[in-house]
Amino acid sequence: MLHRNIRMMGCTQMRVREESYNPQGGSMKPKKGETKRFVRSLIGTTNQRCIAWPYGKAGNGYGCIRVGKTQMTVARYVCMLVHGSPPPGPMHAAHSCGRGADGCVNPNHIRWASPQENGLDMVKHGSSRGARNGRARLMPVDVIFMRELWRNGWMFKDLAKLWGVHHNTSRLACIGESWGHLP
Ligand SMILES: [Zn+2]
Repeated sequence: MLHRNIRMMGCTQMRVREESYNPQGGSMKPKKGETKRFVRSLIGTTNQRCIAWPYGKAGNGYGCIRVGKTQMTVARYVCMLVHGSPPPGPMHAAHSCGRGADGCVNPNHIRWASPQENGLDMVKHGSSRGARNGRARLMPVDVIFMRELWRNGWMFKDLAKLWGVHHNTSRLACIGESWGHLP
């Protein structure tokens, strides 16, 4: 699975407008169109090392981007551009390098995987934010991701561990007691 060949799509064109999502500040502030140019430069790269997203990141360390009105991880956006739309069912852009939480956006490291498969990968790699940082704070993109895992049978305490938050925090986020405005 880790060494699966990457199917590169030819010239992928998406008519989208995007801007960087930068909830925490401190990351590089992009000029207009800069994040999109950066993403475009990744497509077809033969670089096999991790490529860190230099712009805005979510609380769990994943690079974030806004595509049209949708906020998503850069990994997911890159996965869509390189591998096409996700297969049916809730799919995650998973990292073979285990460094999504360090903001890796190298398309050669990213593939579609089921939430279970991806979650297990993250735990195995010790790459969840929670494994390294006990005072993680949830961002909207984290909550959306967490709820997706929860709907797929993950337990609050495991989600809490993955993100490094109290299990009550993950419970409230999943059932919508907190972050009620999010899907
Ligand atoms: Zn990587």
